[in-house]
Amino acid sequence: MKLFIRLELFFVTVTLLAGAAYAAELTFPESHAAGDGLTVTFGASNFAPGTSRENVEAFYKNASVDLWRNLGVTSWESYVRWSGFEPERGRWDFSMYDAECDILERHGLKWIPFLLIGMNYATPDWYQKSDKNCYYKCLEHNEYSGVQSIWNPDLRSQVKRVIPAFAEHYRDRRVIESVLLGITGDFGEAIYPVTGGGWTGDYHQHQGYWCGDPYAKADFRAWLKNRYKTTDRLSKVWGKSCDAFDEIEPFLLENAPSERAWLDFVEWYRGSMNDWIDLWMKTTREAFPNPA
Ligand SMILES: [Zn+2]
Repeated sequence: MKLFIRLELFFVTVTLLAGAAYAAELTFPESHAAGDGLTVTFGASNFAPGTSRENVEAFYKNASVDLWRNLGVTSWESYVRWSGFEPERGRWDFSMYDAECDILERHGLKWIPFLLIGMNYATPDWYQKSDKNCYYKCLEHNEYSGVQSIWNPDLRSQVKRVIPAFAEHYRDRRVIESVLLGITGDFGEAIYPVTGGGWTGDYHQHQGYWCGDPYAKADFRAWLKNRYKTTDRLSKVWGKSCDAFDEIEPFLLENAPSERAWLDFVEWYRGSMNDWIDLWMKTTREAFPNPA
């Protein structure tokens, strides 16, 4: 116990001395590199579409960007919203993110863009107002979320269009350390909607099962048809008579025809997310063939 107390006093003393030295100098005289092959990322910035270059500059200044490199930081993560660089369909405007890159390069730092497509706060208004828009829909209340459904074929084509456009603009600038993929979810996770925490948008949100939209239903039916081929076969395995695949609706556990049916549902539901991840990974790797 004595040793413990003495050590504690020693640390307190060192801490106080270090604090006094820091207060006296208010600078970091030496660079503390992360080490060969190591990266240290600070973050994050998350600017609303249309934020001016002046406000971006002010943000970084307030966050003491000029100290980061000497602290061993190698990169900065910023939220890069689809809505932040395609204000109108087909019109790309990267000026807000260019401003961030200018600052980072000026301070010897790399960038980790958190590339976001599909979240309510990251999807352009022009898309959300278009006839291509389709949100997730919960099974619990049959209500739409504000987050895009991953079963919407058009969203798939948007991912394949938007990621290459982003890469085309930044690929040769060599400012990117790595790309963080914001593939779905309320904030940008590889999960179905859970809760938005307020700032992600004013929409129906909760934990649950989000596969009630028409595209999700069609996908579930196609998946079952591919697995069982005939409704006779499915009826036998599920233990419930089924006359047509088109009659089948995604279901909650309490409504599952059988345990076997529930396992099929879960396999499809989780597999859909894995397919979505594969799409993003493949598209991003193709768009960035030569990592920095
Ligand atoms: Zn609901």
